[in-house]
Amino acid sequence: MKIAIVRERFEGENRVAATPETVGKLIGLGATVAVERGAGSGSRITDAEYEAAGATLAADAPTALSGADVVLTVRRPAASMLAGVNPGALVIGALDPYGNEADIAALAQAGVTAVSMEFMPRITRAQVMDILSSQANLAGYQGVIEAAAVFDRALPMMMTAAGTVRPAKAFVMGAGVAGLQAIATAKRLGAVVSATDVRPAAKEQVESLGAKFIAVEDEEFRQAETAGGYAKQMSAEYQAKQAELTAQHIAKQDIVITTALIPGRAAPRLISREMVESMAPGSVIVDLAAERGGNVELTQPGRVVEHNGVTIIGYTNVQGRIPTTASQLYARNLLAFVETLIDKTEKRLAINWDDELVKATVLTRDGAVVHPNFASAVPAAGGPVTEVKPAPAPSSAAVEAKDAAVKIGASGATTARKGKAAAKVAVPAMADPPKKAQPGVEQSLPGAVEPAPSPRKRAAIKKAERVIDTAADAAAKSGARKPPVRKIATEAVSDASATTKRTRKPAAPKGTE
Ligand code: NAD
Repeated sequence: MKIAIVRERFEGENRVAATPETVGKLIGLGATVAVERGAGSGSRITDAEYEAAGATLAADAPTALSGADVVLTVRRPAASMLAGVNPGALVIGALDPYGNEADIAALAQAGVTAVSMEFMPRITRAQVMDILSSQANLAGYQGVIEAAAVFDRALPMMMTAAGTVRPAKAFVMGAGVAGLQAIATAKRLGAVVSATDVRPAAKEQVESLGAKFIAVEDEEFRQAETAGGYAKQMSAEYQAKQAELTAQHIAKQDIVITTALIPGRAAPRLISREMVESMAPGSVIVDLAAERGGNVELTQPGRVVEHNGVTIIGYTNVQGRIPTTASQLYARNLLAFVETLIDKTEKRLAINWDDELVKATVLTRDGAVVHPNFASAVPAAGGPVTEVKPAPAPSSAAVEAKDAAVKIGASGATTARKGKAAAKVAVPAMADPPKKAQPGVEQSLPGAVEPAPSPRKRAAIKKAERVIDTAADAAAKSGARKPPVRKIATEAVSDASATTKRTRKPAAPKGTE
C-alpha cells in the first residue's frame, strides 16, 4: 500500500497534504509513504522531517507517484500527471469539481478513483475529516488579520491620557464556520462586531459571540436552511430587502468581512459598488468568497484593489496564507478519512464502497464519473486531458503582506497608497440607530440589555463554540511549533509594473474621538 505526496503544482499554493505527524501515522497503519522532495517547503516542513517520520524521499513527482495506491493532495492534480499510479488509485483532496467537470472527466479517463473531500457529509463521525470547516475556520481568522494589517486605525477602544479613541466597527456577512471565527477574532481584537446571515440558526450563534445580528427575518428567512445546515439560494425579492437593510449598516462600518457561500453556486452578490462608495475612505473589505466570484461587486479575485479609498481584499486562498497551520489541520482531516479505508489487521486498503462517507465523496471509479452531481461529465473517449488552471501569479517581488493596493475607479487602474487625507475619516456615530422595518418584515437589531439565555439559546451557544473551537483544539493538540517570521509573496495586482512596496508610515497623530 503505497501513499504518495507530491509538491502542489497550483501556483501560490503553499499547503501540503501530509505532515511528518500524519506520515508517521500512515506508516503505522501499514503504508509506505513517498514524498516528493520540497513538497513541504511552503509550509516550513523540511525533507529531513519527512524522512525522520519514515517517508521515502522521491526526486520528482513521477518517482513519488509511480506505483502509488493512494495520492494525497491539496488541489486537484492534472490527470496527465497521474500516469504512473496503480489502476484505480485513490486521489484524495480538495478537488473543487464544480465548474471543473472536464477535469473530473479526465481523471475518470485516467482510471483513478477521485475523492472530493469537500463532499464529506457533515455528520458526527466525519467531523474530524471536514476540510471545509478546518480551512474555513482559518480563513475567518486570517481574513480579520489581513483587514487589521491594512486598516489605518486601531481596532480596540483606546483609553489613554490623551483621550479615548472609539473602537473600529466590523460587520461580518455570512455566519458559517469562517464567519463565526471572523466574529470571534474581531471581538478578540476589540472591534464592535455585527453580523448577518440568511439562516435562522445563525442568529443565536452570532449573538452568543457578543455580536449584533442584523437580518430581514421574514418567512423566507425562517425556511432558509437545508437539512445539511447550508444556506439555500434566496429569492431576488429577499436579496433586495436584505440589500436595503444592510446598505445603511455598511455605510457606518470600518471593516466588512464577507463569507457568504451557497454550495455549488456562484457566491451571492451582497455588496454593490454604491455600497462600497458609501463607506468612509480608509475602510477595508475582505471578500472571503472571492474564489467563487466574490460577494462584492468590485472584488477582483486574487487581488487587492482600492476604490474611493476603500481597500477591497480579494485573496482567493486566505487559508493558504497561514500554510503551516492550514497544512497541519488539512493533513489530519485526510489522515482521519484514509484510516477508514484501511484494514488495520491486514494492513491493506479495504474500501467499503457502501460506506456513506465513500459514497458521498467518490467522483470517479472504474473509468467513469459516478457521482450523481456530475452525471453529465462523461469522459469522452480519447478526449482532452485538461491541466489545472493556475492561480494568478504572485508578484515577482516578495514583499511584506502590506502592499500597495491597486486603485480602481473611473480614472482607470492606477497604483496608489491610501492618501493621508483618505486616512482622516469622518467618524460616524458608534451605535447604529434602529431603522424602521418594512411592512411585513421583522427586523432584528438587538438592544443593549441581553436577557438571560433560554435553553435554546444555550444550545446555540454550545453549537457556535463547538464549530469555531474544533480546528483550534486540533491545532492546540498538535503542539504546533510557531513558524518563523518570513516574507510572504503578494497576490498579483492588475498592473504589476505599478506595484510598489507599501511601508507603514509613522502613525500620524489621530484625533481623539
Ligand atoms: P458556507 O461556507 O456554505 O456559507 C457561509 C455562510 O454564508 C453560511 O452561514 C450561509 O448561511 C451564509 N450565506 C449564504 N448566503 C447568504 C446571504 N445571501 N446573506 C448572508 N449570508 C449568507 O457555510 P459553512 O461555513 O460551511 O456552514 C454552514 C452550516 O454548517 C453552519 O450552520 C455550520 O455551523 C454548519 N457546520 C456543521 C458541521 C458539522 O455538523 N459537522 C461542520 C461545519 C459546519
